[in-house]
Amino acid sequence: MKALPTNAKIIDNLTMSVHSLPPLPADADLRRLVHFSAGDGRIWLAGHRMVLLHLSGLGSLRKELIRMIGVAQARRVLMRAGYESGMRDAALARQVRPNASPFELLAVGPQLHMLQGAVQVTPEQLDLDIEAGIYHGIFRWDQSWEVETHLRDFGPQAEPVCWMLLGYASGYTSALWGLPILYKEVECAACGHEHCRIEGRIASEWPDAEQMKADYEEDSLLVRIEDLQADLDSLRVSLSPSDDLGELIGRSKAFEKSIDLLRKAASTQVTVLLTGETGVGKERFARTLHAMSPRADKPFIAVNCAALPHELIESELFGAEKGAFTGAGAARPGRFERADGGTLFLDELGELPHSAQAKLLRVLQTGEVERLGATAVRKVDVRVVAATNVDLEAAVEAGRFRRDLMYRLNVYPIAIPSLRERVEDIEPLANHMLRHFMVLHNKRVTGITDRALDAMRHYSWPGNVRELENLIERGLIITSPGQMVDVDALFAVAPPPPPVTLSATGELRQGAPADLDSLYEELQKRGLSLEALENGLLQQAVERAGGNLSAAARALGLTRPQLSYRLQRMKER
Ligand SMILES: [Zn+2]
Repeated sequence: MKALPTNAKIIDNLTMSVHSLPPLPADADLRRLVHFSAGDGRIWLAGHRMVLLHLSGLGSLRKELIRMIGVAQARRVLMRAGYESGMRDAALARQVRPNASPFELLAVGPQLHMLQGAVQVTPEQLDLDIEAGIYHGIFRWDQSWEVETHLRDFGPQAEPVCWMLLGYASGYTSALWGLPILYKEVECAACGHEHCRIEGRIASEWPDAEQMKADYEEDSLLVRIEDLQADLDSLRVSLSPSDDLGELIGRSKAFEKSIDLLRKAASTQVTVLLTGETGVGKERFARTLHAMSPRADKPFIAVNCAALPHELIESELFGAEKGAFTGAGAARPGRFERADGGTLFLDELGELPHSAQAKLLRVLQTGEVERLGATAVRKVDVRVVAATNVDLEAAVEAGRFRRDLMYRLNVYPIAIPSLRERVEDIEPLANHMLRHFMVLHNKRVTGITDRALDAMRHYSWPGNVRELENLIERGLIITSPGQMVDVDALFAVAPPPPPVTLSATGELRQGAPADLDSLYEELQKRGLSLEALENGLLQQAVERAGGNLSAAARALGLTRPQLSYRLQRMKER
């Protein structure tokens, strides 16, 4: 497949040099990203799950962290946590404001930070030319949650304390522009300054860059191990052939049970019958069985019985001597002979025609194959693994499959669970596939959003692991480099939005029609009539719009004349 462009060229026209900055753009687009899904205990910011915390709770966590591991370590831990959040929000910025100016794009971070209740941000200075490698920004901070809680717990400070906020700014800006950009808190309200103030530059422009970067490094040994692990992963993925993708990944009970059966069979010669829905990975199981068996260094030969024409299947399986049938120009070994010493995988066994069933039975009983047109038999040492997604028992009842052959094959059945039966395996599988396809398509995204994972867990997966593989590949191709794969990149039709959102004035807004039930119940409870409800809504809309009838009409989804008519009717009643 053709390699897709990498993220090298996504940045263009990102040039500005402004000393008197424009005001921050309206944040309605960001507020719309917040969804309260109270019914199932979740809050979303676009695809990311958020949590509303009490500042006092967060403050006590911060305080205990400082007491337990000391100021220096706590500072670094919180900076890294902030950095992680900042990176996540940067992934949203390009989604939400794809065609915005550099300033408006950058503003998503400060504005989300404000929406999240972390701090009030006022940009003071910005020199920005990403292509030329120029970034210099100064921002004023007020209302820092860290100042508030730190002053309460520890009193005035000699050093700045807005650690998590600072990490956020560095993580956000670095991820947004794809450059290492680090911030310093040059003034902090916890140190007696009037405001907090931060300054950000490209890392190499700070004289003490190495020391600053170290703040974002975890214990160096752990980081090194993680890096090595990542290298190893990408190496392993790039070296493995594509049909080996996904290996056998999963820790669900249902899956573990099948793997356990597979392990026990591996060292024996027993004929294995794999059953399960289409796409569950039967060939992968067969290959793994072969790889774990003493036959691992001998051939693994796979035959799909449904893919071969009936008239060819016998010569394919058992071979043919020269001139055995029209078209048999030279003597040819069949798949049984080619698998000698190894494993023969017969997929979709239920499709095998009757005459071939009889011959297969004989080979299994005697360990000898007879090529078409041959006068002598050949000894073969082959372990047969068969697979079917049809009910062989039913095929026997219907006369399509030989009972004696079924008994011969059905010695050691392993049922492979559908993806629906192993929901907890979806996340590790999806992440593994994503890494594989990133190498294959030479394209990097930053992962899969919580919301997309959630949608995948609720999907029915008729095509099982194979379908998951297709979706992940498609999701990677649709997602822009450096962003996270979200729901709409995976599924053509996005799931309905959560019913409750944040209104322009900050109230939770009930969305129709998902909440008509509760609205109806509320009406019943309050004994409101439909007319009273309509009148109340009309009055509310006019009041909230400050008497501006056009705005009130828009809020209600009416035209202005329609609203006037209804108001008139209300007065006349
Ligand atoms: Zn501060």
